[in-house]
This record gives sequence, structure tokens and C-alpha cells, in this order.
Amino acid sequence: HLNNAALMARRRAAMPTGLGQTYDIVADRAENAEVWDVEGKRYIDFAGGIAVLNTGHRHPKIVEAVKAQLDKVHHTCFQVLAYEPYIDLAERLIAKAPGDFQKKAFFLTTGAEAVENAVKIARAATKRSAIIAFGGGFHGRTLLGMGLTGKVAPYKAGFGPFPAEIYHAKYPNALHGVSEADALASIESLFKYDVEAERVAAIIIEPVQGEGGFYAITPSFAQALRALCDRHGIVFIADEVQTGAGRTGTWLACEQWGVAPDMITMAKSMAGGFPISAVIGKASLMDAPGPGGLGGTYAGSPLACAAALAVLDVFEEENLLERSKSIGARLVAGLKKMAGAHKEIVDVRGLGAMVAIELFKDGDVHKPDADLTKRLCAEAARRGLILLSCGSYANVVRVLVPLTASDALIDEGLAIMADAFKAVA
Ligand code: PMP
Repeated sequence: HLNNAALMARRRAAMPTGLGQTYDIVADRAENAEVWDVEGKRYIDFAGGIAVLNTGHRHPKIVEAVKAQLDKVHHTCFQVLAYEPYIDLAERLIAKAPGDFQKKAFFLTTGAEAVENAVKIARAATKRSAIIAFGGGFHGRTLLGMGLTGKVAPYKAGFGPFPAEIYHAKYPNALHGVSEADALASIESLFKYDVEAERVAAIIIEPVQGEGGFYAITPSFAQALRALCDRHGIVFIADEVQTGAGRTGTWLACEQWGVAPDMITMAKSMAGGFPISAVIGKASLMDAPGPGGLGGTYAGSPLACAAALAVLDVFEEENLLERSKSIGARLVAGLKKMAGAHKEIVDVRGLGAMVAIELFKDGDVHKPDADLTKRLCAEAARRGLILLSCGSYANVVRVLVPLTASDALIDEGLAIMADAFKAVA
């Protein structure tokens, strides 16, 4: 007698409006890339808990690792009593991060916290205060995260004042008329009009904007940022919370740049659904804060460390980086076919399996179609496919299907999406 509507009524009465709800669906159980709701209806999961489930729901290896850890030690607070999985995980993540320099790593619980800590370290190391982030970027819902985030509604509206000394440059986005040269010029404008380069501690950028709409920067743009940071002694931070852990076809998206950032933030899929985030960075910067300046009660929980180690094993055993590339190619091909039948789909893009379509009224790039995007997602859910939208104009449909999903399931999801599109277009 559990049903979605009754639970949603209780949910609405007990929870604040600000906690949004994409679908009026209550999950009951899940496995790999499928979810069943409390009424027994099955869904194909193209949302992956917002980029958290690259290894799928309840991967047996991850479940087993967490159960084993639960029987050994489940909390000490790492700063009080250390435990080996934390140390193992730091070493393995350091080994996978690009850059020919000594690195250190430590753990927090959420993506926003990882971002906050990267900024804290950059400030402590440079003794500078200002931070440059990008329009359309998303870095979390804490006060500093909101400040760095480059989108007012809904993330910042009503929540100010924000921390001082945060500046936004333009993120390159050819589809919306921002060239790489425009983006670089916008940083030079900040130096000219707002803040001297010598006072900027860090530049933080997503290799592919996630919430902002799945726009990727090119290796040459990353190289230009690297050179600019080197010129001015600025710390270069890659926020890989959404792109990291194999989503883009490499473990980290910044591996594709040909230059290394000084610091990397990770969260989401790094532990396959268990709450943990990471900051990995140049040792000379990471050691700037004094003892006690970094950490957190739950930060780097033994259970989440065990899960994250299992995720690393699963990536190797199941060749998930190759799979990320092939799933990406399959999705792009399927979505391009869909685009051929619907002029509203103006762009199909992807880096590895971080794939999206962008919708415009009459196929006109000046008319982003948020309404069609909403209707498409709702119709797909009715037909048993969970999709997520994103984008500064709320007109992007993104796919974050588990990398462990079969081709058959992905094709089934694409077919539902195509039918849903026909029904709403
Ligand atoms: N940075 C990026 C790039 C993200 O995509 C997100 C989450 N969508 C965050 C930071 C914040 O992560 P969390 O919600 O775990 O705080």
C-alpha cells in the first residue's frame, strides 16, 4: 500500500520548498542502472544520482567492501586515530593524478567541502585572497560554494551576502557566443578593472561544466589558463566533482589537457554513492595550512574509503575507462539520430560518457527551450526513463548512465527517450 503520491504528500509537508524534487517518484530498490519505485514500477536510470553512480547502484564488489569495513572499524575520526583504507586511498588517487610533481591528498565528505578546502589551501599557500571562477559554473551550496557558483537562480537567490573577493570570468561556450579568446580576455578585464593578478590566489574551473550545461573546455584553453596561472603565481584548481572518476573517458578529465592543474577536487562517483570527497594537489601547496586547519569529524569515513578503494578496483577489473568511451560514442550516435528527426535538438555533445543534448525552439540558438526540456524529462519518466536536465538556460538534457550498464539497457533508454521526444515535440 505504499504509493508515490501519499509519500510525496508527507514529503512536501515535512520538507522545505528549497529542497527541490525533480520527480514525484519514491525509490524502493535499485540495481546497476535500474531503479524500482515503491509501486513496483521499473525505471532505467540515466541520472546516476547526479553523476555519483559510474559503477552503478549497489555494485556487489562495493557493497561487499563496505560490509567488510563495517565489521572492522566504522568511525574513529581520522585525525584522532588513523586507519589504513584512508592512507591506501590517498596513495592510489595521488598515483592517478596528472603532474610531474610530489602530491598529497586528503578527504572531506561533500563536493562543496572539497572546493572550500582547495580554496583554503590556495589562500594559505599564496597568502593572497582573491579567487576567479567562471560564469555558469557550479561549485556547491555552502556559502563559499555559492559565492564561486556562477548562476543566481536558484542557487544564490536570497542567500547573500557572499564571501568577498570572488570574481567571475566568462566560460568559453561557442554555442552561446563566447569564444576562448573572449573568455581569456574576460580574465584580463578582471585584472584591469577589479583585482590585480598579484592578489589572486586561485582560478577554479570545471573541465566540463556539469550543472552549467555539459560544456567542455579544450586542452588548448586549459593550457592557456595554465600559462596565465604560471605567469602570475596563481593556483590552478580543477573542480572534477562531476567530471572525475571516469565519466569523461579518463579517470580525470584534466588528464586530457596536456597540462596539470595544481589542485583537483573530486567527490560523487569516486566512492560509488558513499559520501566522500577529495582534494589532491601539489605537496608544496597542500602543506601550507597548519595542523588542525584541515579535516572534519566524518571526513574520509572508513566506510566511504573502503567503497572508494572498491571503485578503483572495479574500474580496473571491468575496464570502465574504455567502457566510458564506448558508452559515450553509443550515446552520441543514438542522440545524433534523434537530432536528425527533431530540429529542436541543435547540439549533441559529449566528452567520454558525459553526454548531453541542447534544445532550442524552432532550432534557433537564440531561443533556448526550457519548457520542452521539462516536458521531455517528465514524459521520459512516465515511460520509465530517469533523465536530468541542466544548463544556464535549463535547456540541456544530460546523460549520466552508469558505466556498468549494458548496451542493451542503454539502447532501451535511448528508445524511450526517442519515443518521449516524439510525444512532446
Ligand atoms: N562541484 C561540482 C562541479 C559539482 O557538480 C557539484 C555537485 N553537483 C559540487 C561541486 C558540489 O558537490 P556536493 O553537492 O557534493 O556538495
